[in-house]
Amino acid sequence: MCDVSYSEDISAKTGLVALLGHPVSHSRSPQIHNAAFRERGLDLVYLAFDVLSDDLEAAVQGLKAVGFRGANVTVPHKEALLPLLDEVAPLAATVGAVNTLVYQDAILRGHNTDVEGFLQALEAGWRRPEGETCLVLGAGGAARAVVAGLLAAGAGRVLLYNRTAQRAEDLCSAAAGWGEGRCETVAAGELNQALRQTKLVVNATSIGLKDGVKTYPLPADQLTEEHVVMDLVYGSGPTPLLHEAIRRGAITIDGGEMLVRQAALAFELWTGTSAPVEVMRRWMRH
Ligand code: NAP
Repeated sequence: MCDVSYSEDISAKTGLVALLGHPVSHSRSPQIHNAAFRERGLDLVYLAFDVLSDDLEAAVQGLKAVGFRGANVTVPHKEALLPLLDEVAPLAATVGAVNTLVYQDAILRGHNTDVEGFLQALEAGWRRPEGETCLVLGAGGAARAVVAGLLAAGAGRVLLYNRTAQRAEDLCSAAAGWGEGRCETVAAGELNQALRQTKLVVNATSIGLKDGVKTYPLPADQLTEEHVVMDLVYGSGPTPLLHEAIRRGAITIDGGEMLVRQAALAFELWTGTSAPVEVMRRWMRH
């Protein structure tokens, strides 16, 4: 027995939007986008494909061959996809990572809606980070979008910590021209001191993904009510980091809101139609 219900609306004319990543089985994007397509009466379907790095090029060629409308790109392909594109939107080129593909008139164009999605979620939960010192944890594709967003939005200083120090150094070097503010790396032993200088803390590592396992990307016992803590990791409830931040009186922002905002921006790129953000938010939590 299978508990999937099949839509009678899917026909030979239905267009395809894909998610490419590995793994993808935890993703909420199919529910969010299919609900949004239904809400707007669009003849599109969104399917997730678990694609290994070695198969990425073949997967993209295959999707082009069947005339897909577009895609989301997630871990670990956001940077690897760049050489496969015909065009790269300026922000995605700056960040060096794409999370959204649009395929139109045989041109494959890459975009990055994570940057604006991050800033929209930050602004909705707190405000823009003008002049503030911000601590970012991680140096992967998500961290690149966060650092780019913070510097573009006028953050004064971005302190960057990553388990693999060289990746943090590389990201700070790349970020040198992304805004007026500075990006500086911090070592694990400097995290307590960095937290004392910091207003906004953003977790852009994948720590916190495993339900039921209490792991933190930083010394969470040093958080105070002076901090604003945003966790890009999202799940069915607050992550261990957000849970501890709430307990310590900090302002917190859930990664689910960024997911919804970046998804709404991607929806608008594929369809040219305004996204039903409330519906998407409801299905993110469903
Ligand atoms: P990624 O490119 O694979 O980078 C993963 C990052 O996490 C790296 O900095 C890595 O450090 C660090 N990391 C992983 N396991 C670790 C561990 N055990 N200890 C310390 N550091 C660890 O992934 P990504 O695309 O940047 O995504 C990161 C997270 O953000 C994922 O959970 C993703 O789901 C989430 N995300 C959320 C949204 C949203 O809309 N809410 C958007 C994008 C991403 P090393 O460099 O040392 O390996």
